[in-house]
Amino acid sequence: MVSWRNCDVKMASERDDLRLNTRRKDRRYIFEPKGRGTSKAQQAEWQARNEALDIDDYHDVILHYVEQVKAAEFKSGYYGQLTRRLSREGWPIISKARLRQAYLAMVDRGRVERDEEFLRRLTLKPTRTLSGIAPVTVFTKPFPCPGKCIFCPTDVKMPKSYLSNEPGAMRALILEFDPYEQVARRIEAMEKIGHTVNKVELIIAGGTWSAYEPDYQEWFVQRCFEAMNGAEVATLEEAQRQNETARYRNTGLVIETRPDHITVEEVRRLRRLGVTRVQMGVQSLDDQISFLNKRGETAADVRQAMRLLRGAGFKIALHWMPNLLGATAESDRADFLRFWNDPAIQPDEMKIYPTGLLNGTELYDHYERGEYEPYSEDDLADLLRFCMQQTPETCRLNRVMRDIPAPDIVEGVTRSNLRELVERDLRDAGTPCRCIRCREIRGETVDADQIEFKTIRYATDHSEEVFISAVTPDDKLAGFLRLSLPTLPAPFTEIAEHAMIRQVQVYGPALALSEASSGQAQHQGLGTRLVEASLDMAREAGFAHISVISAVGTRAYYRRHGFERGDLYMSRAL
Ligand code: SF4
Repeated sequence: MVSWRNCDVKMASERDDLRLNTRRKDRRYIFEPKGRGTSKAQQAEWQARNEALDIDDYHDVILHYVEQVKAAEFKSGYYGQLTRRLSREGWPIISKARLRQAYLAMVDRGRVERDEEFLRRLTLKPTRTLSGIAPVTVFTKPFPCPGKCIFCPTDVKMPKSYLSNEPGAMRALILEFDPYEQVARRIEAMEKIGHTVNKVELIIAGGTWSAYEPDYQEWFVQRCFEAMNGAEVATLEEAQRQNETARYRNTGLVIETRPDHITVEEVRRLRRLGVTRVQMGVQSLDDQISFLNKRGETAADVRQAMRLLRGAGFKIALHWMPNLLGATAESDRADFLRFWNDPAIQPDEMKIYPTGLLNGTELYDHYERGEYEPYSEDDLADLLRFCMQQTPETCRLNRVMRDIPAPDIVEGVTRSNLRELVERDLRDAGTPCRCIRCREIRGETVDADQIEFKTIRYATDHSEEVFISAVTPDDKLAGFLRLSLPTLPAPFTEIAEHAMIRQVQVYGPALALSEASSGQAQHQGLGTRLVEASLDMAREAGFAHISVISAVGTRAYYRRHGFERGDLYMSRAL
């Protein structure tokens, strides 16, 4: 059995290809990487493309664009067609974000009248905030991971497993992985393209969070909170306290780590940082496949991590990789079923990342020796159809393909819209995917009086889980709540014999904190009705207390429901 604990891991400070830069405050945590990958020229080009337009120099161009956008038929893909046509006519190509920014600058100077319909046409990716919150992804510094997984790429400019030309990663690289800058710029960019960013879900991406030094972790999270608050303070606790009433409130904090790093102490530390959701790379529950791919952990590690995290109230997202070395389409089907048939597992969310064959990995050597073969597109689509049909209504399939740029994949499936095709096949066959993501209400309006509350109960080997959903007449999800009724002792005395609210989610476009609803699911009292239903159910099950794993920015909300702040949780008597 391979154990990462015995691996010879070189720490970043010992590596030749990374050097510390000590020029400014906190630079001890910011690396200036050298090596192959995205060139300075490419970075400069990316920056130039994203710089603000000079509204004097581009005055006529901007006005021409505004006219054209207003005249265009507003349908999916209209902006791409428009820019291609304008480019053929000799006009420069301007992205929606830059046009929006330039237009608002002209409004500020009184050169044009503000037109809301025009701005709506320029809102980029409206789906981004349709879960009711604004996701802000930040990357940790390049750092080695204790894992030795044979499929995992190494780009010295990036945290382990990420490539510098992946979407989002380039931004982090240019900002030197500075957490404050990453958060501040992202919020600014999302607001510029018309999103409401008052409720921020902070997603910290990077190899294995738990492997970073504890003081780096604390500094990183504090700087993220400071960016949301717009103020620097002395401690993490102070930054968190300020965020309770800040303009940009943190409604969720996500990290990614390995199951074999989850201990009671680690769980306690995560809670202190304000983490509410943990993503874990599992990749396979078949110990033989894990061994062949040098995962360095077993299904028993995953079970233990699930018990600890769910017992502590976290939402848990697992990553699974079909088509690993040694797997077949048949063994992958059996492996996927383990996630639902094993009473300890049953994740709240999943990401399916079909193995991408990348140059420079150990898996590539196996491929060259004829020991590994990527699935064909048909085989992979068949497998994904099976997985989507087997996923229960209580789980959200966040992804079924990873966003690896196609040129990096040596051989294998590169079709990025495979999910859409598979979903369409399932709908045509009358067996649509029932996962949470496929049933979310998205931008549709909701009549609160028409909502029906449905309950699904399922047992794990350490709790009874209750999934209370708010369902529209056409079977869409307007919101849901996850209630955990533990059957084993809790990991911390603070929540001993407490029922636990692990998640409250209300869908629809994100509304500002003080904004009233005009049909959107948010702010129609759905969250309150879900919380009240959970209090009744916990009472009926014989619990005298209930706790909630509250994000820092939602503490005020739970206070209004009678919860009081303890050490790591908010709790109330029933
Ligand atoms: S644990 Fe994750 S980041 Fe680390 S080597 Fe394995 S796949 Fe890569």
